[in-house]
Amino acid sequence: MSGAAKKAIVIGAGIAGIATAIRLAVKGYSVDVYEAGAEPGGKLSEIRSGDFRFDAGPSLFTMPQYVDELFRLAGKKPENHFKYIRLDTVCKYFFEDGTEIKAYADRNKFSEEIENKTADTARSVHDFLDKSEQIYNITDPVFLQRSLHKWRNYFNLTTLRSVLRFPRIDPFRTMNQANAAEFKDSKTVRLFNRYATYNGSDPYQAPATLNVIPHFEQHFGAYFPEGGMYSIVRSLADLAIACGLKFHFNTYVDEIELREGKAAGVRIGATSHLADVVVSNMDVWYTYRKLLKNIPAPEKILLQERSSSALIFYWGINKSFPELELHNIFFTEDYETEFRHIWQKKDVCADPTIYLNISSKIQTSDAPPGCENWFTMINVPSNSGQDWDALIAAARRNILSKLSRILKTDVASLIVSEQILDPRTIDSQTFSYQGSLYGSSSNDQFAAFLRHANFSSKIDGLFFAGGSVHPGGGIPLALLSAKIVDDLIQ
Ligand code: FAD
Repeated sequence: MSGAAKKAIVIGAGIAGIATAIRLAVKGYSVDVYEAGAEPGGKLSEIRSGDFRFDAGPSLFTMPQYVDELFRLAGKKPENHFKYIRLDTVCKYFFEDGTEIKAYADRNKFSEEIENKTADTARSVHDFLDKSEQIYNITDPVFLQRSLHKWRNYFNLTTLRSVLRFPRIDPFRTMNQANAAEFKDSKTVRLFNRYATYNGSDPYQAPATLNVIPHFEQHFGAYFPEGGMYSIVRSLADLAIACGLKFHFNTYVDEIELREGKAAGVRIGATSHLADVVVSNMDVWYTYRKLLKNIPAPEKILLQERSSSALIFYWGINKSFPELELHNIFFTEDYETEFRHIWQKKDVCADPTIYLNISSKIQTSDAPPGCENWFTMINVPSNSGQDWDALIAAARRNILSKLSRILKTDVASLIVSEQILDPRTIDSQTFSYQGSLYGSSSNDQFAAFLRHANFSSKIDGLFFAGGSVHPGGGIPLALLSAKIVDDLIQ
């Protein structure tokens, strides 16, 4: 390629695609982002249903500093473009026996709440969160902030120190084994086991290293962006345009073109678009299967178990519930059975744990006065051809009966609008293989090493950013993948 600015093409305007594009534009690249959908954001999208607005995908926002960083990088003050508040109550947990536990952001208050509402002590919560912090301190510099696939990253003092402290990250027990050893009360164990679902994994298989996740929420905090989750995308897309890059919506990339073993650009229909670097934000499984059909795929990586998916009912509710918070969980009494259904039987149990997010608790314009927008979600297996219509019908009945029982109100009679998202539609709308929310699962203790790298070791000039590659799924890690790609592109 000749000319002044080097050219980059990003395939997909998911959160990591947008972040990578901003970083490359700041670096001086001329960047084109091709997005199959009509809007930016990928899984981070919004829908409207009657007079209700819903964030369709992610609802929990942690590590906002990774978003702020992008504004600073572009020479702007983040607070002038993107605002958010820290939540005092991170989540409210409901149990069938009537127990309600509030996870306060304040660590002392939260620990006391556990002591008051369960058989566990405040001390045990402090000990647990201290261990969570320790895992974070060991893993963050090695596993999260840089490529695990470059030898040079292993030969430095930080990595060496982390390697020496490796047993302290608790990789040899499952999360449930560690949590059941730490806490007496099944309510506390369930509460902390649930963090495995933050990256679509199973606490009865995943290593206790995932006990790092509570540290993100308890220490760094949980936040709500002004305008709802989709304002993360809106503000970053505006920033991207201000940085001079070009979005091309409704434009599906058909192929990554190679010349002499190097990524040379992309093909869209019959037209080739040349570039010096190509970054795929498409799920890595589909990137190989659809865009790189003529080269051998890294089968071991692609054959890894997929993360779980989700079934979501977006309900407009004609009533408001003062006892509910922004984030609510209604626990099953038998968590192990719930995960056995997801991971071994590949179906949905009769009493699933329900996550209920109500953004109108803070963003009141998301629902008409006196009403609430209920994002009602359960974890389900990724799509392997199950009879989803039957599973959805049964789950809808079971969810409504559980919520009605615990809230002592006939919830079905309050629903005034409904939309549904399931593994099939997550796959077809965002090209996420089998509808998995987070790429591959982290059930294997070596999962961090088995995720696809952020670059191709076979094709020069080809990079990967997003939840299906290193360091993993969820908004914070997807944003870190963009940062790693930025570091890799010199
Ligand atoms: P994606 O969002 O996967 O987007 C990829 C984009 O690429 C899509 O827009 C797609 O159309 C486009 N694309 C793909 N192929 C092509 C092609 N060939 N040509 C052009 N465009 C293409 N994370 C959290 O942090 N907190 C949460 O609470 C949370 N909850 C979630 C709940 C749900 C229901 C879902 C679905 C996800 C949730 N996540 C959550 C996960 C989070 O949404 C993802 O990890 C993250 O958004 C993934 O971003 P990404 O950059 O990998 O791109």
